Amino acid sequence: MRHLICPRLCRYHKPDRPEEEGCGGLTWLAARPGLEAALAGLSPEPAAPLFGLADDDPRLLRVCAACPYRPDGCDFRDPAVSRDQCAPCGGLRAVAGLLAAGHDLDL
Ligand code: SF4
Repeated sequence: MRHLICPRLCRYHKPDRPEEEGCGGLTWLAARPGLEAALAGLSPEPAAPLFGLADDDPRLLRVCAACPYRPDGCDFRDPAVSRDQCAPCGGLRAVAGLLAAGHDLDL
């Protein structure tokens, strides 16, 4: 699951670093291996970071609420960081991409 998300969708991914704790999106998706095929079909090059979904889409906020980086370590969910200085992680982008493609993720 990680290989379908981090190198393809995450701007924070560093291939030479040991694997770190996964973000909320990665953890959420890793618990649902049935979504692997859908993830493999996502295009990693959309113009919109969240595949057209709003930053404050409640389904995405639910994923972030359970993320270990949320309290202290995520610029994207830090209201003190301006929108043009941050970007969503790959895990959240992956969830957004599946939602935008019409998958009902029950979020
Ligand atoms: S955008 Fe931030 S809070 Fe949300 S899943 Fe990614 S790292 Fe976690």
